[in-house]
Amino acid sequence: MKDLTGIGMTSQRTRDRLIVHLKELGIKDERVLSVMRKVPRHLFMAEALSSRAYENTSLPIGHGQTISQPYMVARMTELLIEDGLPENVLEVGTGSGYQSAILASLIPRVFSVERIRPLQEQAKRVLADIGVRNISFKHSDGGWGWKACGSYQAILAAAAPAEIPMKLLEQLTIGARLIIPVGKEGQQVLQRVTRTESAYEVETIEEVSFVPFLKGRA
Ligand code: SAH
Repeated sequence: MKDLTGIGMTSQRTRDRLIVHLKELGIKDERVLSVMRKVPRHLFMAEALSSRAYENTSLPIGHGQTISQPYMVARMTELLIEDGLPENVLEVGTGSGYQSAILASLIPRVFSVERIRPLQEQAKRVLADIGVRNISFKHSDGGWGWKACGSYQAILAAAAPAEIPMKLLEQLTIGARLIIPVGKEGQQVLQRVTRTESAYEVETIEEVSFVPFLKGRA
């Protein structure tokens, strides 16, 4: 039986300390801080690593991938919902499912795409275990988006392409936002793209370090 609430290094007190740290790092959105206080990050990684779950660091989840750093999850979510909560969101790169759980606590419909099947299967299990039910999953290359589900009021990518895939831009509704790291390893920046009637407006937020956005399925 999994420990949902946590004890010792996975306890609510340890989690609360992470929230204090996120505030020190500049995270202001109370909605984001509140869901991050609740979601048990230690369940999204191997048990051997769970004593480090509430450190502000990315950690390995197998298959050469990592669970994102809590600050990055918070920052990207904050940027995504700044002007109001979207009705739906497409997430590219489910990974451990931690960011998916944060999104699903705030946004009614989450569509999450992952190219590595075993990671997606594991994420599905954990999310079902903790009772998250508003996420649809697809084993696919997120570079194609997820057209069957139409267009999105928000898209968040957790892996960095050299250039923003056109298919993702096309699947944004007018006024929608895409949060995505862009660039080669060692020179990535986080960007926020807003689709207007006539253009895509790009803001560059800060330097970041993400795993590469890869083609095809594995
Ligand atoms: N937010 C996730 C981040 C996982 S790392 C977490 O906190 O666990 C990024 C994930 O993106 C990896 O699982 C990787 O397999 C996936 N990924 C990379 N390129 C992709 C692509 N083109 N389509 C779908 N997923 C992709």
